[in-house]
Amino acid sequence: MDISIVIPLFNEVESLPELTAWIKRVMDKNGFTYEIVFVDDGSNDGSWELIESLKFHNAHISAVKFRRNYGKSAALNVGFAAASGDVVITMDADLQDSPDEIPELYRRIKQDGVDLVSGWKEKRHDPLTKTVPTKLFNAVTRSMSGIHNLHDFNCGLKAYRKEVVKSIEVYGEMHRYIPVIAKWAGFRKIDEQVVQHYPRKYGKTKFGFGRFIKGFLDLLSIFFVGKFAKRPMHFFGTMGVISFLAGFVISVWLITDKLISIAHNTPYRNVTDQPLFFIALVAIIVGSQLFLIGFVAEMLSRNSPDRNNYQIEKVI
Ligand code: UDP
Ligand code: MG
Repeated sequence: MDISIVIPLFNEVESLPELTAWIKRVMDKNGFTYEIVFVDDGSNDGSWELIESLKFHNAHISAVKFRRNYGKSAALNVGFAAASGDVVITMDADLQDSPDEIPELYRRIKQDGVDLVSGWKEKRHDPLTKTVPTKLFNAVTRSMSGIHNLHDFNCGLKAYRKEVVKSIEVYGEMHRYIPVIAKWAGFRKIDEQVVQHYPRKYGKTKFGFGRFIKGFLDLLSIFFVGKFAKRPMHFFGTMGVISFLAGFVISVWLITDKLISIAHNTPYRNVTDQPLFFIALVAIIVGSQLFLIGFVAEMLSRNSPDRNNYQIEKVI
């Protein structure tokens, strides 16, 4: 099969008939073999019943329904597992992404040999409250992830080589950072393509302002997990040792200073009268705490089931 189109949806009943018809039009025109994988993220507006009736007329549709709402990342993860096409396309269900982009995305993967092509909504049809923070967000993600050629990490419309979706795991709200996850998994050819973006036609957005806070925290954890999950001691241990040593050296110095003064019979201050002493004390405590955290984390990661889970590209 050429293409799997994975579509996460949460209460998008009005958009689905139009979207399905549009996809079918594009696929038939280009002669692709394809499947549409709907993942119903616990809708309660009749989306599922509608999908059932759409499937009745279109054998290319398959669908999964969650019992409750788990979020877009969970939906994508399940869709990725179900997809069997050579190229996997993800798109939003709300008609903001255009199926007309699919042939070109497919070509980039198949002919240009790119692993992941992310859509770039160069002209966005979203309110300012969303576009301005998004700009900032993308800039931070770009510099933290080292993927400098993407403008729009969180675009719902993306295309993947099949191996990419089969070797990554998306959870929590990590769908915003799939290119970063793919990069950590060793896929280097990541590129973007300018895509059409339309205003939301029906219903309203499913993400509130909280998206920015959660998004930022997720970026931190992704960065940390990607870099240090398999060796937490390198992170906590280093900071712990530095802090402990700094505290230790300061204390030793304060005490020696006092002893020297006593020996020379010059006036001196009590060690406990000096602010520096308390700073040193805190540094020692924080340092040993960090060290212990690193130790515990190291034991955790030793016991984690995927401690020896590597991405193997080729074997002969
Ligand atoms: N979505 C989902 N589960 C959720 C929230 C959203 O499957 O918990 C789907 C939603 O139905 C849509 C896509 O994710 O197909 C993008 O959501 P939305 O259009 O609300 O996001 P925005 O365009 O505002 O970024
Ligand atoms: Mg949308």
